[in-house]
Amino acid sequence: MEHTSAGMWRRINARYNLIGSECQNCKRSYFPPRIVCKECGRNTVMKEKRFSGNGTVYSYSRIYVPPDAFKDDAPYTVGVVKLEEGPMVEGHIIENGKKIEVGTEVRTVFRKMRVEGEEGLVHYHFKFEPI
Ligand SMILES: [Zn+2]
Repeated sequence: MEHTSAGMWRRINARYNLIGSECQNCKRSYFPPRIVCKECGRNTVMKEKRFSGNGTVYSYSRIYVPPDAFKDDAPYTVGVVKLEEGPMVEGHIIENGKKIEVGTEVRTVFRKMRVEGEEGLVHYHFKFEPI
């Protein structure tokens, strides 16, 4: 194994947390992370930032005819969540029997998305669920 424990931790960390970036000049947060601030350009330093994962539903729609990869999940809800730190993030919203509306408070959960290939590579992705 040539993986260092730091590298391993970094991958696990990225898989189970929303890791974005924050401009050290204007403090604007980005998810997914950006290496250049939209406001400040290259005249600033971007730092890795871990988001709380909490936010509110900004918009949503119910999908009845999904792409093949998600056909077992349909119907399901996808939406745009405004994280409490500011960035807008698109993702699946798990309803858990609750009604999703604009303004519904949600948190991030990490779920297995699909298994693919002969090695059974498992993809994890974040989803949102109502708090
Ligand atoms: Zn900035």
